[in-house]
Amino acid sequence: MTNSIKVGISSCVLGENVRFDSGHKTSKFVTKELTPYFEFVPVCPEVGMGMPVPRPTIRLISDQERVALVETKNPDIEHTAKMLDFSEQKVGELKNQDLCGYIVCAKSPTCGMERVKIYRKGGAENTGVGLFTQELMKQMPWLPVEEDGRLNDPVLKENFIARIFVLRDFYDSMGDEPTAGKLVAFHSRYKLTLMAHHPQSYKNLGRLVANIKDYDSNTFYQMYREGLMKAVVHRASRKNNTNVLMHLQGYFKRALGKDEKVELCRVIEDYRQGILPLLAPITLIKHYLAAYPDEYLSEQKFLQPHPQEMRLRYGL
Ligand code: SF4
Repeated sequence: MTNSIKVGISSCVLGENVRFDSGHKTSKFVTKELTPYFEFVPVCPEVGMGMPVPRPTIRLISDQERVALVETKNPDIEHTAKMLDFSEQKVGELKNQDLCGYIVCAKSPTCGMERVKIYRKGGAENTGVGLFTQELMKQMPWLPVEEDGRLNDPVLKENFIARIFVLRDFYDSMGDEPTAGKLVAFHSRYKLTLMAHHPQSYKNLGRLVANIKDYDSNTFYQMYREGLMKAVVHRASRKNNTNVLMHLQGYFKRALGKDEKVELCRVIEDYRQGILPLLAPITLIKHYLAAYPDEYLSEQKFLQPHPQEMRLRYGL
């Protein structure tokens, strides 16, 4: 267990009483289940830019030309420039902290990640992004960002947490100085993960790694990090996972006896058909791996993308 995986979070989701009505929006999943694993970095941009608690409610409006952040009751009072300035400066600071993820409060005109209401003449549309989170995603396009409510969905939750661990592992593997050797070794450990999440990115990143000598290490680091993190945004589908499992099966062709082969085939097929969860074939493969060790396979992050105690693969 580690506390050094830094994850930014909207302060109200962590339970701080910073909302317009002096309330909070605590996510029990965050405070109960994630706290042992992550070190949260709370930010309330509205308080950060100088608004009091309690405060008037604000919302996004659009007059075709631009989106503005104004007070709901008195749209003549505008906070756009102040919020944009605060966001640019604060995100600039966060960029130096090796954040590995960010949990934002849904629907907020400041922190919402998507489908935030924008009011126009004649009605409202759910097409906005909170101004702070917009800046966050602009300055750190590689960063896993997710909304509090979406973390109740087991698939989105697993994907988000897996991405956080990928990024932390990437930073740990590179250390203070990324080198070609470190990048190649990292890529090798993530081959099956990439195949499961997005086979096309697996091919593209493989080509990039093959041409690593054409780049200086810093440029390569930036390009690889962005490609890697974009690839893992795609959820690992049952079909792709099945392909990876069959690929893994190939490694045991010689080692396994007839009955063991039949058993592995059956468990993979049951997973493919949705009868068994992913954990079933993975557990069997790990069992075979313990009996018939293989260095390349045991290093594959696909087999253990996050701590088992988090129980994130149970429902997949
Ligand atoms: S949604 Fe964002 S701005 Fe609003 S209270 Fe929560 S942290 Fe503060």
